[in-house]
Amino acid sequence: PREPLCERAWVEVDLSALAYNIRQLKSLLAPKTALMAVVKADAYGHGAVTVAETVLQHGATWLGVATIPEGIALREAGIEAPILVLGATYSPEQIRAIAHWQLQATLGSPKQALVFSETLSDMSQPQPLPVHIKLDTGMSRLGTPWQQAIAFVQLVERLPHLKIASIYSHLATADSPDPTIMRLQQERFEAAIAQLQATGIALPRLHLANSAATLTDANLHYDLVRVGLAMYGLYPAPHLQTVVDLKPALQVKARVTQVKTIQPGTGVSYSHKFVADREMTIAVVGIGYADGVPRNLSNQLTGLIRGRRVRQLGAVTMDQLMVDVTDIPHLEAGEVVTLLGQDGRDRITADDWATTLGTISWEILCGFKHRLPRVAV
Ligand code: PLP
Repeated sequence: PREPLCERAWVEVDLSALAYNIRQLKSLLAPKTALMAVVKADAYGHGAVTVAETVLQHGATWLGVATIPEGIALREAGIEAPILVLGATYSPEQIRAIAHWQLQATLGSPKQALVFSETLSDMSQPQPLPVHIKLDTGMSRLGTPWQQAIAFVQLVERLPHLKIASIYSHLATADSPDPTIMRLQQERFEAAIAQLQATGIALPRLHLANSAATLTDANLHYDLVRVGLAMYGLYPAPHLQTVVDLKPALQVKARVTQVKTIQPGTGVSYSHKFVADREMTIAVVGIGYADGVPRNLSNQLTGLIRGRRVRQLGAVTMDQLMVDVTDIPHLEAGEVVTLLGQDGRDRITADDWATTLGTISWEILCGFKHRLPRVAV
């Protein structure tokens, strides 16, 4: 069934859209460039295991997560692909878990590298642990300053129980139409790599690109691209929309739970932030801010019923919201309202919500709570 019968609200994840997006993104890559699917934060709210299984079937070969538990959940589901923990890990307990679950770690500082090597020396690991050297080229987040790349790489090379699997950095402004800072970061990355090459170190895999850089320029792809947002079918910035066609994979749907007529002067929802100026028919819909519909969208949301736009009225409450269905005849409890996604020819996107809220689509996607079941379609 396309929709769960007893649920009042749910998230639909279109696996064919994910597969399509992977194919589209792969078409931009040289054969030597691998695609890492970034599935942190429960695959940006889409459900990490289902997304990982789907994209690995369609050409992704690496997975990226933010935390160790995210990586363990994938391993527990039987996924065997290499998994890079993009976030920081530093305690012996974490390092033992990384080794036990065959995850791969990001190393961002000499101190961290030393703790890794010491902890692993206490374990009877037959193979060295693959680690990924993170350079800070201008994001000022995790990583060793790019000027210290040589000393850092030489230290890790000397440490027992570790094997450098890649050297990477993260871009701060790849979604900006102004490429200046991105190019500066790339120059710094290249300078560090050139210096390493001059020392005779055999270069491991190199990577720099997120979705925006992947869509911007093949010279940013190196040996692997780390793609999140674009894989889910959204564009990191409007100027990148023409590069390749992508299909949003996530839709949010809820059911009408009651329909009623209200008289002119009647207030709707908490604080009566909407008051009817005429007789209206309104529908109560079973989704609210505890499901991830931001309360700051109160009085500004639009839904789609039978392919037609309906206006949301008054405050979004914890579990329910109201919409104006005056123009929709014979509406009954149980009918489906699309809050995000396509119905007929019309579509409401995470970018629409993000624009209204002054945020980014990444935050909208990650905001849907686990109370909403993820339904693969
Ligand atoms: N690489 C790293 C290190 C990240 O933290 C992220 C996500 O923020 C990504 C890649 C993927 O970014 P995007 O969703 O913009 O493709």
